[in-house]
Amino acid sequence: MTDPAKSGEPTPAELRALMAEATALQGRINDVQARLRGSEETRPTAFRLDDAAGWVAQAGQALGETASDLARTRVARDPNLCDVPWGVCPVHGNTLRGSGGRAWCTDLTCGKSWDYDRLGNACGEPATHTVTDAEGGTMRTCDGHTKDVANHLDGAIITALSSDAGDA
Ligand SMILES: [Zn+2]
Ligand SMILES: [Zn+2]
Repeated sequence: MTDPAKSGEPTPAELRALMAEATALQGRINDVQARLRGSEETRPTAFRLDDAAGWVAQAGQALGETASDLARTRVARDPNLCDVPWGVCPVHGNTLRGSGGRAWCTDLTCGKSWDYDRLGNACGEPATHTVTDAEGGTMRTCDGHTKDVANHLDGAIITALSSDAGDA
């Protein structure tokens, strides 16, 4: 195991700080543009800055989304959290639909939704069970994934983790 702090891995906070700088830069570009438009003489020079501010805004959005993905990746490698590489509804299991970077539970009584691609990211819910499949592979699963496995994986052995095993 390498120590993330020593291997040079950035933190989500670093990425969010960069995003804040991009947002501030966008604000300064908008400000300069408004001042250029304040006089007839300099107004024609301002035309590129709509695009420039938009590109900086896109950069900020990409940094923010990267920070969110990284945060979920870091959560997912915690051994007390579910190993499954796709998301579920924590209550209903395999009921998610996703589109356009969002995901939602299709159970009509649920109403949960997420503003990221929860289906396409590691689960990261607290692990409550160990599942051993028919080939002998094991994984830790959350309540939602345990329910899904129980419904769909023939021959799986499902064992509840003892409640004191994961507590530090
Ligand atoms: Zn649900
Ligand atoms: Zn899970």
